[in-house]
Amino acid sequence: MKLAERMSGLSAESAFEVLVRARALEAQGRSVIHLEIGEPDFPTPPHIVEAAKRALDDGWTHYGPPLGLYELREAVAETVSASRAISVAPENVSIVPGAKPIVFFSMMALLEAGDEVIYPSPGFPIYESMIRYLGATPVPVPLIESRAFSFDLDILRDKLSDRTKMLVLNSPENPTGGVIPESDMRAIAEMVRDRDLMVLSDEIYSRIYYEDPPLSIASYPGMLEKTILLDGFSKSYAMTGWRMGYGVMPLWLTEAVGRLTVNSNSCTASFTQRAGIAALRGPQDAVNRMTAEFHRRRDAFCRGLNRIQGFRCVFPGGAFYAFPNVEGTGIRSKELAAFLLEEAGVACVNGGTFGEHGDGHIRFSYANSLENLMEAVARIEKAAVRWSAVGTPA
Ligand code: PMP
Repeated sequence: MKLAERMSGLSAESAFEVLVRARALEAQGRSVIHLEIGEPDFPTPPHIVEAAKRALDDGWTHYGPPLGLYELREAVAETVSASRAISVAPENVSIVPGAKPIVFFSMMALLEAGDEVIYPSPGFPIYESMIRYLGATPVPVPLIESRAFSFDLDILRDKLSDRTKMLVLNSPENPTGGVIPESDMRAIAEMVRDRDLMVLSDEIYSRIYYEDPPLSIASYPGMLEKTILLDGFSKSYAMTGWRMGYGVMPLWLTEAVGRLTVNSNSCTASFTQRAGIAALRGPQDAVNRMTAEFHRRRDAFCRGLNRIQGFRCVFPGGAFYAFPNVEGTGIRSKELAAFLLEEAGVACVNGGTFGEHGDGHIRFSYANSLENLMEAVARIEKAAVRWSAVGTPA
């Protein structure tokens, strides 16, 4: 039996593949520091866990409405309206199992063969995977290291065409940690305002930033009705395993997402949504504490990486990824990432797996203890002696 042809477009996510290999090495007794997977290493705040337990006891164990519990949609609408200085209603909100399905459902609902989709490169690999799966045309736009991984706006303008159906923005960005500056965001809004396209604004890291707060394109005049705003609980509240996220979008698109939901997962788990209400309406100090800790680690880790021969690391403005340029080592980033895992015991991801413009870089997630991060730097420094001596990791 052959798989359907369209399956050839869907790719895997490399961080999960590295994790499998790292676990196999650990099973052989090797020590590995995990800097490959993009999830906060903190527990979910206890008041959120308590809300889920209470919900189970109270019988929130049945199907719910496909677009989510109304009370959670209200909480999302209020939170998003306040944080982005816009006005959205609960009816604009769809609750889905993880933020990822918003990428899946919105692309599924909008894209046809021949449509062009512009997205950042390097970028979250799921964008390109979904674009290809749907037979649309991927149009990657490079992020520029010397601009702290923002676009070159002239290149972006050149890539816009009459066939551009969607523009994907992700700020703070995975894998670079780049944050789109205000002047760029305004220029992008002006570029697309009068075009017949939708912007998928992936704001999953909106709460994790270290300098200027990230902006949403939805906040700019005329953009709300053209924006699918994606956010969720996984990163802000350390809830990756709960599988809950949301999209905020125009009503006509919410209806389409609702239909796709009915045809796939029916609804998001009811008791987790009760916990979602507690997350949004409860105290936010855990989010701030976690971000302060990421900030401390970012500074120490990036400084450490910059000491390593052949590494050059821009300090990321948000998220929890460092994305050093490793061209100075003289070793291809794919080989270097494999060498760091196999020989130095540091699990990380080759930047090239996030798109061709990520080549020559490595992504490290600093969602790990400061102690482990410093040990990782020490292990890489030790390994660097070998490549600087012979110009090869072998
Ligand atoms: N967008 C980006 C840019 C991400 O990095 C991730 C998670 N790695 C997601 C979306 C998906 O988030 P979730 O786990 O809530 O589905």
